[in-house]
Amino acid sequence: MKITLTEHKKVKPDFTKLGFGKYFTDHMLVMYYHNGAWEEPEIVPYDAFAMDPCTNVLHYGQGIFEGLKAYKTPDGKITTFRPYENFNRMNRSAQRLCMPQLDVDLMVDCLKKLVEIEQDWIPTAPGTSLYIRPTMIANDKALGVHAAHDYIFFIILSPVGSYYANGLAPTKILVEDTYVRATPGGTGEAKCMGNYAASILAGEIANQKGYDQVLWLDGVERKYVEEVGSMNIVFVIDGVVVTPALVGSILPGITRKSTLEVLRKAGYKVEERRISIEEVIQAHKDGKLNEVFGTGTAAVISPVGVLNYKGVDYVINNNEMGEISRYAYDTITGIQYGRIKDEFGWIEKCN
Ligand SMILES: *Cc1c(COP(=O)(O)O)cnc(C)c1O
Repeated sequence: MKITLTEHKKVKPDFTKLGFGKYFTDHMLVMYYHNGAWEEPEIVPYDAFAMDPCTNVLHYGQGIFEGLKAYKTPDGKITTFRPYENFNRMNRSAQRLCMPQLDVDLMVDCLKKLVEIEQDWIPTAPGTSLYIRPTMIANDKALGVHAAHDYIFFIILSPVGSYYANGLAPTKILVEDTYVRATPGGTGEAKCMGNYAASILAGEIANQKGYDQVLWLDGVERKYVEEVGSMNIVFVIDGVVVTPALVGSILPGITRKSTLEVLRKAGYKVEERRISIEEVIQAHKDGKLNEVFGTGTAAVISPVGVLNYKGVDYVINNNEMGEISRYAYDTITGIQYGRIKDEFGWIEKCN
């Protein structure tokens, strides 16, 4: 790997006011795919790409990405959480979008090196971290619709604040029954750019109505629950943890997987199956919908306080974070920040 360090380090932002994805570090990793192979990865000063307006990713969206985080532990170690999972998933996304495969071990090594170089950018206040965004885009200069021949892979890093400004505030979610995010055979289980483009309209409408995000239903019958915006969804019904099975149109979240592992290990009954929105609403009416929460890298665990379906607001657990949500949050963040022993082997040290 070639490394070129910048001679002009940026002035760091106020680490107490980071927000999400607004500031980027001094360097990035870039790797080009050309003549049927990946070239040598390079760490270079963070900079813009010069792009021809006809570059095909700009027209047809042949692009995929990942999201994970790096942390500084109390004993000064720099760590990441399950990075192999992210690059394996990226390879599955690449396959679906007809893009080239990555060498997972090499990518994890590149990532660790980049994070180590940028370690002064890792914030340490509770809940803060360094967000990592690996991305791959098609880079042919031509308008024909076909798999590109050239690609760019890059990794950029962004120090991010605590997702929760005031503690673990529950969110308000609107069950979306007009628009759909994904259908069987589509790209729902790939982390690709177009899935997000397709989701923006419903999200904006939900925001205007006073809701934070939408809960997507399946694209065929609008009957089964799928996921929330950029998070998977978990219900606790009568003490049982239930989450939609990965049926092909749902993004297989690494936080989802980790949460299920943590809860199974703690002895909770966990079910991955199809779950209809009617079942969820009925459980609420019966007083059995104990908790609802989203899982994703950004927020880790995000309690849902209100679920709106067909114009009715259903308040969950008194609009408070529930016991199981709290346990999953404390355990996963405890492992990530080095406060709890990592019995799962999820943590990768960068230094
Ligand atoms: C990334 C993502 C998630 C969450 O995945 P994690 O690996 O837990 O961060 C959930 N849904 C969608 C649509 C996503 O893009």
